[in-house]
Amino acid sequence: MKTILRVPIAAVAVCLAIACDTSDKAIAEEPRPEPAPMDARVAAPAPVAAYSFIVKPQMVAPEEWGSEPDDMSDLLHTPKYLTVHHDGVAFAAGSDPAAKIKTLQTWGKAEKDWPDVPYHYLIAPDGTIYEGRSTDYMPETNTDYDVSGHIGIDVMGNFEEQRVSKAQLRSLVHLLAWLANTHSIDMTTLGSHRDAAPGQTVCPGADLHRYIESGLIYEWAIAFPTGQDLEIDVLPPLEGGPVEFVPGGE
Ligand SMILES: [Zn+2]
Repeated sequence: MKTILRVPIAAVAVCLAIACDTSDKAIAEEPRPEPAPMDARVAAPAPVAAYSFIVKPQMVAPEEWGSEPDDMSDLLHTPKYLTVHHDGVAFAAGSDPAAKIKTLQTWGKAEKDWPDVPYHYLIAPDGTIYEGRSTDYMPETNTDYDVSGHIGIDVMGNFEEQRVSKAQLRSLVHLLAWLANTHSIDMTTLGSHRDAAPGQTVCPGADLHRYIESGLIYEWAIAFPTGQDLEIDVLPPLEGGPVEFVPGGE
């Protein structure tokens, strides 16, 4: 289990209010003002909005890869957990990630009665992030666990047979930091599919799971908003594990 220092994302939020002293980057949270007396509330100033400097990572929008989701209004949920997957199918050299995602959507609709791709985000070997299912809706799974609240992030490849690329790790860290901030999700909820569905799957594969299990991804993701120069890089090959990187990565 993780035995790592917890640093709340809110601790790095900065203030955008004109009245706020923005020179003081150490401000953790806006102090909550005392409630005004009823007769004074009409004239009270607008509440100060919290502001985060975590820029949304660049991503390919669903309409750009030709997404055609069906109605899934019965699958509304509130994002609470960050859950990492792999394809479970080796990424072949020369494959087009967008075409693979479109095929996954078409297959899922036909074979599984899934209204959309099962994942919310998919990360190609070169680090390109594709938006899948809207985070407004719960994901899908072939295993048995309550998917409500999970944000599913698929790192493309089979990390039982291939090594995750540095570009994928970098995109994953940025994406996690942004998601945690955007949806107010505690980074300690970060886990692998196999953590959510124990004994049912090896997803996201040994080579990727070790980054999550050791807390390394967690540490990178909570440090990301500080803007410090992170040395996000791949670990040496896992003993007895895959040797080759996923093609298109490094
Ligand atoms: Zn999975």
